[in-house]
Amino acid sequence: MVLSIRLALLGPPGVGKGTYSSILSKELRIPHLSTGELLRREISLKTELGREVESYVSRGLLVPDKIVNDIVAKRLCASDCANGFILDGYPRTLPQAVFLEEHFPLDKVVLLQASLETIIERICGRLYCPNCGETYHVSWKPPKRDNICDKCGAKLSRRIDDSPEVVKRRYEEYLATVSPVVDFYKKLGKLVPFRAEGDSQILAYSLLRELSSSRTEILVEK
Ligand code: AMP
Repeated sequence: MVLSIRLALLGPPGVGKGTYSSILSKELRIPHLSTGELLRREISLKTELGREVESYVSRGLLVPDKIVNDIVAKRLCASDCANGFILDGYPRTLPQAVFLEEHFPLDKVVLLQASLETIIERICGRLYCPNCGETYHVSWKPPKRDNICDKCGAKLSRRIDDSPEVVKRRYEEYLATVSPVVDFYKKLGKLVPFRAEGDSQILAYSLLRELSSSRTEILVEK
């Protein structure tokens, strides 16, 4: 059995959207679409559009709605989205939500919620290997030897934007931009608030059960 559902996950940076999306995508057998990744792919193609997208992404600015909407709409028309999809990083603004509702209405919008303290603990403990890209966390996935990559032996680093001050600023920016989007979906009765404090690998399965129990009418055989 699979669930045919059109979903979007909203939540602050560092809440674990990537983990939730990939578990839901695997279990429901529907694609996980991250706008960050779609945009980075466009940049790597080095087209005129890619260069325009890069000028925003490289400065940490939101790409204009018209550009993102067109890229997302094109992707959602692909045949693998016919049974549903999971959007991660979109919609981020009210005009994006209005556009999506008009062309590809969602079934549910999950709002992943976690306190600033949880987010800071999660993000500020992250370590990565600048040589091979492997990621670690000081509490949940520590390297075997302090600050040394298990895979290649290189010295581990922290991302420059992973300091508590920067995380706090990004969290506040997120709250300010997401609230009109949250209100929009609340009014439509599509919002599913979900407490995301804890192990996202385990919590993703609770979310899956919650979504499945409310969507029995669209269970389809595969
Ligand atoms: P992310 O990987 O979600 O952190 O996104 C990386 C960058 O892509 C963001 O900093 C924005 O510049 C851009 N981006 C991703 N999603 C959107 C969106 N829905 N609207 C506008 N810009 C976006």
